[in-house]
Amino acid sequence: MSLTIAIVAHDEKKKALADWVDRHKELLRAHRLIATATTGALVGRSCPELRIDPVKSGPLGGDQQIGAMIAEGKIDLLIFFPDPLSAMPHDVDVKALLRLALVYDTPCAFNASSADCVVASGMLERLSSADRARL
Ligand code: PGA
Repeated sequence: MSLTIAIVAHDEKKKALADWVDRHKELLRAHRLIATATTGALVGRSCPELRIDPVKSGPLGGDQQIGAMIAEGKIDLLIFFPDPLSAMPHDVDVKALLRLALVYDTPCAFNASSADCVVASGMLERLSSADRARL
């Protein structure tokens, strides 16, 4: 079964997330990616072979859209690279997203090394043979 993976990065961390996705694109292409708008556009430019479904930009409600999907059980993994050194006008939305990820025990990674640990867990490779056949 393929996973639905939400990817979000604050501006100073977007390149780090795009680099991480690029490094793991062979594994990620088996899954559905959901991204906040600007993150998705940037990652999509560097990895055009990936299917990335956008929600709104984070400050315009995208974090809340992803939070709602978590509450609905529609997100299997959250890869979120926040910027710890800048104040965010949408800090409340960021906190709400993190809170819902905790409430629903959603697997999360907040930087490249923890996201690498998720990959090392084998979680992204546990696909059904039917999914593999479709690729
Ligand atoms: P963005 O949103 O990808 O649209 O920049 C991310 C965020 O700031 O939460």
